Amino acid sequence: MRVLIFGREGKVGAVLMQALAAAGHDVRGLEAGEPLDLEGIDAAVDFTTPTAVLGNATATLAAGVPCVIGTTGLGDDDLAELDRQARETTTQCFVAANFALGAVLMMRFAAEASRSFPRAEIIELHADTKLDAPSGTAKATAAGMGGDVTIHSVRLPGLIAHQEVILGGLGETLTIRHDTTSREAFVPGVLLALDRVRGLPHGLTVGLDALL
Ligand code: NAP
Repeated sequence: MRVLIFGREGKVGAVLMQALAAAGHDVRGLEAGEPLDLEGIDAAVDFTTPTAVLGNATATLAAGVPCVIGTTGLGDDDLAELDRQARETTTQCFVAANFALGAVLMMRFAAEASRSFPRAEIIELHADTKLDAPSGTAKATAAGMGGDVTIHSVRLPGLIAHQEVILGGLGETLTIRHDTTSREAFVPGVLLALDRVRGLPHGLTVGLDALL
């Protein structure tokens, strides 16, 4: 596929530029301020910033090009707007708060465990360069657990993306933890999304779980 990556020089974007090319895709990249050329592009991937992503996706969908979004910080109104735009242009928009397989499993296990424990809290830890808090993964985890879960956000240099879900009951706790030790963890999920995005229903699809 011919793929455009928004955020070519970002921490995730730079990893994807290499990995998607190595997987056989024809990859072009775009950085802030550069002119957008979607001629011949089959799908776009966005790993930019909470303020840039909506404009990028709007331009992409308007050109009838499907969009795979990893950028976090989009609110419910933004997601509803992306769904509307994708339906209107009969194309597809896929958004996942976390493209790492282990994180998807962590969210599933946390949802299951929350049915057996009365209380839970989430600690999410990310690099100090992350612009949004709480993380999209923590919000999605809490929603899957029924919503009434306090989230603590840690932002420090040296971290990549980590999350602990601690569930407490009578005389016991259960901790479910996921660690991203390298940004290559996001590559298989992005490749899967690119493989599947054009076959999804028109409109918005949320979460890697929907593709597994
Ligand atoms: P980053 O290192 O700050 O990279 C963002 C890149 O986007 C920068 O190179 C930035 O350029 C560029 N950019 C900003 N505005 C742009 C625009 N309008 N068009 C094209 N490029 C633009 O951040 P990161 O760590 O790679 O993370 C990027 C996003 O992905 C964040 O929202 C993060 O939370 C999210 N993320 C999601 C997952 C997931 O699995 N879903 C995993 C990791 C990260 P400048 O520096 O010049 O502004």
